[in-house]
Amino acid sequence: MSWKIKSHLKQLVREEEGTVIKDFGGKRSIVLVYPNTYFVGMSNLGMHNIYRLLNEREDTACERAFLPEKNLIAEHKRTNTPVLSVESQKPISEFQKIAFSIAFENDFKNISAVLELSNIPVDKTERGGRYPEIIAGGAAVTLNPKLFEKICDKIVSGDFEASSAEKKPARSAVWTNNTEFGSMHLVEMQRGCPHRCGFCAAPIIYHPFKQFSKEEIMEAINFGLPHRKKIGLIGGDVLAHPDFEEIAEYIHSKGGSFSPSSVRADRMTPSIAALLRKSGHKTVTLAPESGSENLRKTIGKNIPDEKFFKAAEILSSNGIKQIKLYFMIGLPGETDKDIEAIGDFINEMNKADVGLKISVNPFVPKNKTQFQDERFEGVAELKRKISLLKKVLSKSRCRAVKFESPISALHEYKMQH
Ligand code: SF4
Repeated sequence: MSWKIKSHLKQLVREEEGTVIKDFGGKRSIVLVYPNTYFVGMSNLGMHNIYRLLNEREDTACERAFLPEKNLIAEHKRTNTPVLSVESQKPISEFQKIAFSIAFENDFKNISAVLELSNIPVDKTERGGRYPEIIAGGAAVTLNPKLFEKICDKIVSGDFEASSAEKKPARSAVWTNNTEFGSMHLVEMQRGCPHRCGFCAAPIIYHPFKQFSKEEIMEAINFGLPHRKKIGLIGGDVLAHPDFEEIAEYIHSKGGSFSPSSVRADRMTPSIAALLRKSGHKTVTLAPESGSENLRKTIGKNIPDEKFFKAAEILSSNGIKQIKLYFMIGLPGETDKDIEAIGDFINEMNKADVGLKISVNPFVPKNKTQFQDERFEGVAELKRKISLLKKVLSKSRCRAVKFESPISALHEYKMQH
């Protein structure tokens, strides 16, 4: 057993607040594994919530484990150290159950990596009764349960939180700076999304759409304020919450600030922009998905161009001078005219006094969504569209453009189909 690995995990625990360390005596022991690094996994609200819900049960002791960071994998192999739980640095094979929480299909391969490092056969038929029961749950499992059948003894499809007795908002349970949202306390305002964009899995995974009451949300906020002053408000359309402004003002009154996980252009008002500014936002992210209003309508994102241009104006006049825009290419029914429309869209947005950053992602049809049977454009065509878009954008006042790789999109597509 590597001393270096154990002391690394002990250090992570020392830097956490909220860690639950239970005596295992007489309890059901579960290790909750996020098949990516600690840094990535600890940003996942689902992981926090399941950890909390399981540990609230007196008969259960739940610890966490993660895929080791790249620089530690060699150390694991060299010293034949299995993947260990964070809390008590116990091999995951010594728990009664191993529960993988899988948010993204791209982490599928990491499940095998975790099991192989732990000397646990990946194929469930080779395990016999000599190993812990392996369970898989999370958004990626709900969307694509078949992918996990060969490895996992049990598949939990659907929303774990909804199937438990817990009906309260999910919230951060452990606070650490060693993660992407380390400066925040995350609180779920809504589960799912009230909209039905054809490409998006959020309304499918979390169905039916649920909005928590302001009292429930404030209670979850209060829980985190002693740990973090910045509150991440999570949901598919958080600005649509009827008490959004009251909740935002409540956070400010407690000396905190907030950050919404989604901002729809058609919800933007001067008072919301002022609240965002007061919370220290310098950049706001909007997702038109397409530069063409018609195509946007076809894919279910029914927000007219005008709403985006108006939102840019409102944000700019309230001191928010940077907008990040998300687009997709390779959408069903898309033509070159739709790609060119992104240029016109950007030119109109530029009329407001804002800096623009653009992120362009290839469309990948996701299982169980309305677009699950749509065609994946293919790498060559996506590359051609990227070149066309680069040419179009070279004439506009926007230099900060990030393109997601068509090859990664192809990998994602292959995993699902
Ligand atoms: S893309 Fe956004 S608005 Fe559309 S369904 Fe998904 S979360 Fe809701």
